Amino acid sequence: MPLIEPLTTPASPRRYLIGRYHEIALKGRNQWRFIEQLKRNLRDAFAGIELGAMRSEGPRLMVELIGEEPEELIVERAALVFGLQNFSISRTTPLDIEALKREAVSQARHYPGRTFAVRTRRAEKRFALNSMEIDRSVGAAVAGELGLKVDLENPDFTIAIEIMPAAAYVAVGKHPGAGGLPVGIAGRGLALLSGGIDSPVAAWRMMRRGLRLDFVHFHSYPLVSAASREKAADLAAHLTRFEGHSILMLAPFAEVQREIVARALRPLRVVLYRRFMMRIATALALRAGASALVTGESLGQVASQTLANMTVIENAAGMPILRPLVGMDKNEIVEQARMLGTFETSILPDQDCCSLFVPAHPETRATIAEVERAESCFDIDRMVTMAVDATEKQRFEFPHRRAEQAA
Ligand code: ATP
Ligand code: MG
Repeated sequence: MPLIEPLTTPASPRRYLIGRYHEIALKGRNQWRFIEQLKRNLRDAFAGIELGAMRSEGPRLMVELIGEEPEELIVERAALVFGLQNFSISRTTPLDIEALKREAVSQARHYPGRTFAVRTRRAEKRFALNSMEIDRSVGAAVAGELGLKVDLENPDFTIAIEIMPAAAYVAVGKHPGAGGLPVGIAGRGLALLSGGIDSPVAAWRMMRRGLRLDFVHFHSYPLVSAASREKAADLAAHLTRFEGHSILMLAPFAEVQREIVARALRPLRVVLYRRFMMRIATALALRAGASALVTGESLGQVASQTLANMTVIENAAGMPILRPLVGMDKNEIVEQARMLGTFETSILPDQDCCSLFVPAHPETRATIAEVERAESCFDIDRMVTMAVDATEKQRFEFPHRRAEQAA
């Protein structure tokens, strides 16, 4: 029994992705810029999946899903897009209580959980039943057919129903979104990716703040095996899932290390390695249009990360260094690496270039005067240019990820 005449002709059932904004919801006058970026990123993340119109409604983004791709695929892609707090997949039904019940039962059948609640909102008040009556009627149908229990206080999942002028929308459950701000809204950066645990977490945290990242990995191949290069490529591929495309720069570091080992005092080696990394990274970043470097440094974690050494290392960089992990404990970082899915790759054995020729007692309180004196015998520009010119590039894309030489 149709309860009211629809205000417009009812279309065939449609499927929507309904995303709720994370921090974007707090933005004021320039909120539209964040939303436009989010829409572009969603289209990129859904490459190969046909999307219809997208429209922002209050704190939510409604995206029409045209095809019938499996829900797992939609959920997997949407969960990678920064900017959404959570999202659900909604289907339209005619404005008819029987149709609502059928749709709720069919969706809830596949959703994990033992208890549920129905929550109805009526934008269209002419529907014969009020919100509470719809909640009760749909709740009884779901409980009866699937043997689940209603729990209004603390349900395992919620069935959300919206009564609109042309159709009703039914969504079962909510999926966690990636949070943060849309990639690209904060500009571009270059992340120093070591192959260790910390740097991929640092990169992910900055992407989540809206920074689009490329990656650089310094390697001493062939002085050490190619393992660290392969790990860096795996990590870059994994991180690219969150931003669609990226470039990994593989910068040769053996020659720089050879010169430092030959000509500088032992305890200063690590700090000097790092200062050269910053110089080379700055040059690569400028070429890539990036305006900040990102590292996985955490205050006090190792000898090169004392405040004095960080200051001296930073002094060699030509742009800001962002260190999102600076105040985090190692166990917090490890937990995030596990969540992110990079931990297993990061702990694979390799030989980091910085472990080469490292003194037993590295300097922990380097001063700028001291390192500048030590560096006065180097032709810094030549060393940096050589490394920059010999840097290889690999391009990554997601979806349809492929790794190849970039032009
Ligand atoms: P990670 O777990 O990221 O390797 P770490 O605890 O080993 O960090 P360090 O070795 O002091 O700490 O490195 C500090 C930061 O310097 C790294 O997080 C990374 O951003 C950068 N870095 C170190 N080695 C390399 C490398 N070979 N290539 C690129 N970046 C590097
Ligand atoms: Mg490391």
